[in-house]
Parts: sequence; C-alpha cells; structure tokens
Amino acid sequence: MFNIVLFGPPGAGKGTQAVKLAVAYNLEHLSTGDILRAEMSKNSPLGQKVKNLIEKGELVPDETVISIIGEKLRNAGNVVGFIFDGFPRTVEQAKALDKMLADEALEIAVMITLEVEENELIERIRLRGESSGRTDDSDTSIIKNRIRVYNEQTATVADYYKNQGKYVPVSNMGTIDETFSLLASEIDRRLQIAIKS
Ligand code: AMP
Repeated sequence: MFNIVLFGPPGAGKGTQAVKLAVAYNLEHLSTGDILRAEMSKNSPLGQKVKNLIEKGELVPDETVISIIGEKLRNAGNVVGFIFDGFPRTVEQAKALDKMLADEALEIAVMITLEVEENELIERIRLRGESSGRTDDSDTSIIKNRIRVYNEQTATVADYYKNQGKYVPVSNMGTIDETFSLLASEIDRRLQIAIKS
C-alpha cells in the first residue's frame, strides 16, 4: 500500500489536490472535514457534537477524528492506499495514525505540505465560501481563527514527519494543474523507490 498525508493550512488546496490524486493513483481519499460535514448535514449525534466547534473554527477532539479514521481503515477492504486530507492535525493524531497503520503492517510513505502565502489563504477560503456555502469559510474572523489554530496546534505536525524523513514541501502558488504536476512527480519518484526496494 502507498499511503500519503496531504498537509497544509486551511485554504492551501488539500481537498482539490487530494481528489485529483485519488483518481490518478487509485487511492482512497479520507477527509475528516468532509466526513464531519456529512455528519452535520445528517444531523447525526456526531454531527451535533462537532457542529459548534467547526462553526467556530476550532479543532474537534482528537479521539473523535481518530476513531473516525480507525473505522475507515478497518472497513477499507482491498485498496491500493489512502490519501489523508485534513488529518492528522495534531501530533497526537499523527501518533495514533502511525499506530493504527502499524497494526496492519502499514505506514505513511510521504507527507506532502502544500505551501501558500498567508494573505492568499484568506482570499482563497473566502472565494470557496461563496460557492460552497460553508459558514466557516465565509466569516473573516472564523477564517483567521482557523489559520491561528493551524499555526498553534497543527503546524508542529510537520516536525513529526520531518523527524521520520517523510516531509516534502510543495508550493501551491501556481495553478491547480501546475501543483498537481509537482505532486505527481514527488509521488512517482517515491513509488519508483518503493517498487525497487
Ligand atoms: P477541513 O475541511 O479539513 O478544513 O475541516 C473543517 C473543520 O473540521 C476544521 O476546522 C475542524 O473544526 C474540523 N476538523 C477536520 N479535520 C479535523 C482533524 N483532523 N482534527 C480536528 N478537527 C478537524
């Protein structure tokens, strides 16, 4: 299996690129944000539990997202690999992911961070909010809070993967297709290494 973490601040383009990569490499796309929003629209007990935090731009508790991902991994069946989008967002989540994968004799092959300048992030999120209707994408103070939460609680996850030699930064200041090509060449290079070893 070839498992990828696609990392970066809110608005960096993780969702867009993860969907394209999932199609190109036949990977199962796991986005905790998408899963949580689906629970909110169903108004399920889980959706009700996380609604308030998501609408404020705060993180939901580690154990909530870890158990969501755990269930997805257990029920995945025969897949080529996973692309994790928006998870892990804390070092606790990263450790739990490693442990859950190790239990199945699996691991993360690479963690790719999409890099976008901060003032550009706010613009991109606001634009996305106009079409998606996401409340956490529409209000500037909530957008800024999400970027603050990223800087304070999530950015350090990069060090966790740097220590494992799996961290790869990729600029997403270009077009969607340009960034996709950069991502694909990083992945292709690692796939070649994985095949040879
Ligand atoms: P996203 O679509 O990835 O930007 O996620 C939207 C919101 O869902 C975030 O602002 C958090 O409130 C929540 N969320 C998604 N993934 C996680 C995660 N891995 N850990 C904690 N909260 C998360």
